[in-house]
Amino acid sequence: MSTSKDSEYIVGVDVGGTKLNTVLLDSESLQIVKSSMSAVSDKLDSLYPTITDSIESITSKVQIRSIGIGLPGMVDDQDTMCFSPHIASLNGHNLAKELKDYFNCPLKVENDANCALIAESVTGVAKGKNNVLMVTLGTGIGGSIITDGNFLKGHRGFIGEIGHMAVTKNGNPCVCGKSGCWETYAASSTLPLYYEFFKNHERTSNPEILRLAKLDFEKSIKQELGTTLTGQAVMELYIQNEETAVRSVESMMDWVGFGLSSVNSILAPELIVLGGGIVKDFRYYEHTLYESFKKYSQNNDFLPLIVPAANGANAGAVGAAIVSLKSTSISYANG
Ligand SMILES: [Zn+2]
Repeated sequence: MSTSKDSEYIVGVDVGGTKLNTVLLDSESLQIVKSSMSAVSDKLDSLYPTITDSIESITSKVQIRSIGIGLPGMVDDQDTMCFSPHIASLNGHNLAKELKDYFNCPLKVENDANCALIAESVTGVAKGKNNVLMVTLGTGIGGSIITDGNFLKGHRGFIGEIGHMAVTKNGNPCVCGKSGCWETYAASSTLPLYYEFFKNHERTSNPEILRLAKLDFEKSIKQELGTTLTGQAVMELYIQNEETAVRSVESMMDWVGFGLSSVNSILAPELIVLGGGIVKDFRYYEHTLYESFKKYSQNNDFLPLIVPAANGANAGAVGAAIVSLKSTSISYANG
């Protein structure tokens, strides 16, 4: 890599529930020059070194202009993580302040779904669009919204926590402390739970049985079996048409479409953009998802398109880098 020009690179970090994706971008072309993927712990004393190590691993011999970090949860407009259900150790922390001196360059923190939509509005499928809903499917579900050409922010910047929209009463327990949140049925992380359930239990779609099974499997998977089954593994079996995986993905996508129909009724986007690692296989489940979306929607004549993020699983990290170029993140609509 050329190092003839200083400060021509920007860094974006996307901190997920299980993985941390770091990219080095050319600040002019916004193209990825280098990237790195690490496993991430929810413990602060290992999370910070993971972030700094991942940044250093792709920035050696390069002077960087700025760093952006996308985090899952409610980040306020002062860069403080106010509530992160999936990485509770971050609550109350301000990474922009805490890591700024370490790197000696401007550092900005933003909600991860906002980062993904910023990337798509600047370099991806949302460019030039005035009404867009971004939905990131991962460990949880994140959301970001452009309405009438403006990024919506909400009180303290907390808008768009659509994964914690309740989709049923007395439903699955959620890491946020509520129950029945959409993400407990429709996040990518539910795929192994569906798979284990359908493999071991009678064929049913009864939500109560599914709820009990989920509790059962969360216990067995995480505490007893220590399974390495991942959402990606289930998706690969689905692509191979394996029966249990097909049921699992169809069940998850039924819930994705169900939740999208509600959010669509409220926001009326012209485009729904999916983000997260699962989007690379979008073409395999696109039809199933759209059928579910139509099934639960009030009128099928005016439904928006659902498309995968052009930046794929890198959308969050790319957007975080772009965010770092400006002091505020809410003025990116229409590129
Ligand atoms: Zn929740």
